[in-house]
Amino acid sequence: MPLVRTGELVSAARAARRGLAAFNVITLEHAEAVAAGAERAGAPAVLQVSENAVKFHGGRLGPLAAAATAVARASSAPLALHLDHVESVDLLRQAHAEGFGSVMFDASRLSYGDNVKATADAVRWGRERGIWVEAELGRVGGKEGEPPLDAHAPGVRTDPAEAAAYVADTGVDALAVAVGSSHAMTERTAALDHGLITALHDAVPVPLVLHGSSGVPDDEIRAAVAAGMTKINVGTALNTAYTTAVRTHLTEDTTSVDPRKYLTKAREAMTETVTAFLRLM
Ligand SMILES: [Zn+2]
Repeated sequence: MPLVRTGELVSAARAARRGLAAFNVITLEHAEAVAAGAERAGAPAVLQVSENAVKFHGGRLGPLAAAATAVARASSAPLALHLDHVESVDLLRQAHAEGFGSVMFDASRLSYGDNVKATADAVRWGRERGIWVEAELGRVGGKEGEPPLDAHAPGVRTDPAEAAAYVADTGVDALAVAVGSSHAMTERTAALDHGLITALHDAVPVPLVLHGSSGVPDDEIRAAVAAGMTKINVGTALNTAYTTAVRTHLTEDTTSVDPRKYLTKAREAMTETVTAFLRLM
């Protein structure tokens, strides 16, 4: 199965009112687990590389992108490559050459006016290269010129009218919204605002993205997809599965030194997590 484009997978999922899960990839084992999980579930998925993961790899996108691309090409499931939470314009510009079909451009630290301008520039750049661009909007709020509140901050909610204006002003292909989830949750206890998801779905003409889905229980995700949420981003849940498997192995076998022994368990634990999320979609 060749590498597919994120935009195609998102459009198909939205038309069928299904969810499309996107998983953060930090190591080769993460990418292998996403591919294995997608094959097991018989579902498409997105491999996401964040700017933070690129920083972890010494600031070089190439090696991890090449690995993720090769894993996707070798898989029998449709997989796409997405560059996540990109703040650096320099990194954004590498997306095309490294095989990414989509980028989440994160200008949320800028004032609203500068955010719109920088995001519209990123969208224009993407259009010329066939790259699908996602952005996020938490809450504009505050006084004129103040940075909008980050969509990932706990308690923040996206206003439907502001979201519609932001999409019109920037031309983005998809919008990440704040509806009750937040990043890096290790317990699945988040309660989503389903009425707000419906209102955003009615107000915004592009697909909606849920970040921080690791902390959202299964029935909440199911209801969010039914209300119109399309791209479901999952990061922390894979890291919890990975680390728990490694910790258990090393606690039980204190003389173990071969990484293949515990990484096999870590990869299988991530594969089970990926499969469960994909079956939920
Ligand atoms: Zn995010």
